[in-house]
Amino acid sequence: MSGMPEKGRAEVPAEVDVAIVGAGFAGLYLLYLMRQHGFSAVAIEAAEGVGGTWYWNRYPGARCDIESMEYSYQFDKDLQQEWTWSERYAPQPEILAYANHVADKHDLRRDVCFGRRVRSATYDEAARRWTLTTEQGETVTAPFCIMATGCLSAPNETRFDGEDNFRGPIYRTSLWPHEGVNFTGQRVAVIGTGSSAIQSIPEIAKQAAALTVFQRTPNYAVPAWNHPLKPDYAARVKADYEGLRARQRKAFSAAAFRFNPDAVATKTPPDERKAEYERRWAEGGLGFLAAYTDLMFDPQANATAADFVRAKIREIVDDPKIADLLCPTNTIGCKRLCVDTDYYKTYNLPHVRLVDVSETPIRITGDSVMAGGEAFPADAIVLAIGFDAMTGALMRIDIQGRAGRRLAQKWAEGPVSFMGLAVEGFPNLFTVTGPGSPSVFTNMLPSIEQHCEWITECLCGLRDAGESEIEVRPDAESDWQAHHQEVAGAHLRSGCASWYTGENIDGKPAVFMPYIGGFPRYVEACEAVAAGGYAEFRRG
Ligand code: NAP
Repeated sequence: MSGMPEKGRAEVPAEVDVAIVGAGFAGLYLLYLMRQHGFSAVAIEAAEGVGGTWYWNRYPGARCDIESMEYSYQFDKDLQQEWTWSERYAPQPEILAYANHVADKHDLRRDVCFGRRVRSATYDEAARRWTLTTEQGETVTAPFCIMATGCLSAPNETRFDGEDNFRGPIYRTSLWPHEGVNFTGQRVAVIGTGSSAIQSIPEIAKQAAALTVFQRTPNYAVPAWNHPLKPDYAARVKADYEGLRARQRKAFSAAAFRFNPDAVATKTPPDERKAEYERRWAEGGLGFLAAYTDLMFDPQANATAADFVRAKIREIVDDPKIADLLCPTNTIGCKRLCVDTDYYKTYNLPHVRLVDVSETPIRITGDSVMAGGEAFPADAIVLAIGFDAMTGALMRIDIQGRAGRRLAQKWAEGPVSFMGLAVEGFPNLFTVTGPGSPSVFTNMLPSIEQHCEWITECLCGLRDAGESEIEVRPDAESDWQAHHQEVAGAHLRSGCASWYTGENIDGKPAVFMPYIGGFPRYVEACEAVAAGGYAEFRRG
């Protein structure tokens, strides 16, 4: 993929039935569905191409950590059969090529306006219409607006003290230059040790003359053991894709990890447990945490998995002091588990250094990164500092609902929504994988498809009934919110500061945002709403 603009719709239309923000996997599928069901639609997209997160995150080593055969659309059965993934975990360029293929195959680009960032969305109560305005000042008016803006799409915009003085380039993993970056012979500083850093550090180390990694909190990572996808394996999956999709639908994470509902870590003899962790480590991937049902509910159980991974880190890393620094002390899985290729091993290389910045904030000078009073010279800096997750992309649009009420006001103390799909006070507005839905705890593709289909069914229902407005009732929203927080409270994932809680962003209210009741339970709840005639909503 080049960075060249892709052909899309030249002009923002004045009026459509459905205005969509974003042309990532959600926006693309929505366009397809709207067309199928006879609604006119447009997607307004900030990028010059489709693909959403996979358009922007082009850093070295970027790849999905859900297996390729599962991280794909299932709505198009021919596409499932036609498309060939090359590796167990698809690299970013291949996922982007896949998004482009889908856009081409279904001729979706003609309804996408590229290179336009939506600045505001305002609801006119009398007209029952949303008006979206782009940064260029173009407007589109539509009875319905769907935010397909992604969960991890608004970069963390933290500015480091002295950042403007740095004379070399500063790159963000989340906004990587399309032409790529050659670090050969350079002294590179990487700030951050989350998933993006863990994927890019081993690749940057292959080029850089010296690499210094600045770590505030160590993360747990399990090996990917990525490999070319064996054609016979792909053929087996394709012969029964429906079987795989059915297993996904029943799985907590909408990914068919090997899950044993009867296995309890604290009731398993230590030798047997270790053998199970070894098997999972050898298999690689996020299924590691599916070993036992109590791992994410019982701190004692969780500690057995955490101890196992820490022992692995100490086995891999030669220098015990570096190994110590790399060993997380918090709950495994509390922050998002990472999946790596040679991450820990990279610290055995003589030109790679790890600097602990847990106690002292980073400062940047003209030619170095300062930590704890020491200067680390750098020719280039890579910021792998993550995202203003879940709400960032929505809050960066000035969304005004009924009576001019702003979403930013409503969410000042944290997001409140009905199932991550709708917000009281904002009629005819839908969010795909919004806060309050399982989204980031699941394989995103099935979750996206489920939301898009639910929204489409809802729109068709309104049309059939001759109705033009739908708004979630306040009690339904607060009931869901209470359920969502209750489920979160029982889960170890809500117990630490992370991007799930918004605490990675200065000043963001600490609220656990994604729904952790599991995909099947959530889908059942969505289906019950539709089957019950949307009683949770006021319609008319
Ligand atoms: P992240 O997990 O939020 O990691 C950001 C890192 O930057 C953390 O180590 C954080 O430290 C550090 N950091 C932030 N501000 C800092 C500061 N002021 N000083 C020093 N360090 C600072 O972000 P990410 O790595 O981009 O990943 C976000 C999510 O995107 C992942 O969890 C995953 O869900 C998704 N993702 C997926 C893939 C994949 O599919 N393979 C790849 C990349 C990302 P603290 O922990 O101390 O805050």
